[in-house]
Amino acid sequence: MLRRVLMRRAYNAGRWDAARTHASHLLSRPSEQTLARSVIVRSYWNEGRFQELVDCTKEWHDELSHSYREQAIDRLKVTGGAKKLTMMKEEKLQRLRDDQPQPKVPINWSAEHMDANFSQEGSRVWFRYPEGYVFWDMPSDYDLQSTHPALLCLTAEVLLSPWISSSKSPLPKGRTLGERASLSFSAGTDSTAAAAVMGDSTLLGYHRRSFDSMLDHRNAERLINHLNSTGEREVLSISSNHELIRTNHGKPVGFSTDFACASHLLLLADHFDLGAIGFGMPIDNTYLWKGRKFRKFEETQYYTYWTKRFAQAGLDLLFPVSSISEAGALMVVKASPWLEHLNSCMRGDGVKGCGRCWKCFHKNGPLGRKMDPHSKEIQILLNKMPLRTAQHALWAIQKLKLEHLVPHLSDELKSPLDWWEEAYRPGLDLIQQPWRDIVQERTEKWLPYMQEEKMLQCVNLFPQYPV
Ligand SMILES: [Zn+2]
Repeated sequence: MLRRVLMRRAYNAGRWDAARTHASHLLSRPSEQTLARSVIVRSYWNEGRFQELVDCTKEWHDELSHSYREQAIDRLKVTGGAKKLTMMKEEKLQRLRDDQPQPKVPINWSAEHMDANFSQEGSRVWFRYPEGYVFWDMPSDYDLQSTHPALLCLTAEVLLSPWISSSKSPLPKGRTLGERASLSFSAGTDSTAAAAVMGDSTLLGYHRRSFDSMLDHRNAERLINHLNSTGEREVLSISSNHELIRTNHGKPVGFSTDFACASHLLLLADHFDLGAIGFGMPIDNTYLWKGRKFRKFEETQYYTYWTKRFAQAGLDLLFPVSSISEAGALMVVKASPWLEHLNSCMRGDGVKGCGRCWKCFHKNGPLGRKMDPHSKEIQILLNKMPLRTAQHALWAIQKLKLEHLVPHLSDELKSPLDWWEEAYRPGLDLIQQPWRDIVQERTEKWLPYMQEEKMLQCVNLFPQYPV
């Protein structure tokens, strides 16, 4: 009994080795075996020790062990198979990093004073990190000197926190909330829905990758040009190469953290007197864990930690579409005057989507746009378990009447999923005042509220697969 308590305590505290030691003592007791196995399997999983997980579950045939084992085998295949590719990719990324511009005057890296890692040359802002430099090309009247150090430190944190713990140090005090709201804007469906529900004066900040890649900016530019030329919204495009930082840590080009996509807005917060930065994260990424299991988002460490950090830099961290699902976002953009200028497909030609990618399936398909559900990518992803962006994908399958293509999902598709298009009222409570009123008014204009909030609160799809 005591052993069981100690095991649970160790597990909950993330002391995986200790939890496994206790569990291994309990394995021989039939009444404790299931729990002990699950602790061993889950702790190996949490540590990413997939080979050990596979080795120890060879003779375990219960459902949970089997499911984790299959997943671990998959992970090993991915990492094992990707190694050669990684070598090639690594070299390519190294060349890309070598090709990047450097500041005229070098900066010394400081792990203690994050704000000392920034400098300005003309309109270019440089950031020194341990492995090199990245930059942003700012508006010509931008002045780094008049930017509060808390904003610089928070910028460093969103770029480096996965690797540099000192970037999480207390922030310099004293920045007060500005007057204007802003939104980290990708020009995709979710962030366009976020722009539509936020006030007209919201500054939209588009991050533009400064180097060439597979990413096609043309679809995004079409919408940005429309918004700027009609004056319906102000969109600012800032070029930067900060997506290269994480390539030093074996990762592909991309954002260091979920909030790195707003690093330009953090740096510009004093310049534009910003009091809030919004992120177009729909319910799929907030209340649903990995798009398939409900959680109380406001109680997650992720939400509480980052909300506090932004507040310490004089900014409200906003989730303007936290009451709206990906399907709701589609309904909002459909009702907005921007639909014809918008396309989420990243492989499109600047006007249309490719019709063959997963984005075309679950974003363009339900909008009535041409899409081939038999394309290779869509077929693979429809048959992959657990289904990616599960709740939304199930809704899309129903909306497109494609149930016959996925007989293995018949249980999940039994009841109608129309509720997924509606707004989740409690999501609005996450939005701070004074920004909430307009978001609420506009959300209500376009979407009815879910009558049965339980439908969302009970979502737990494919529970046999670990989230
Ligand atoms: Zn596409």
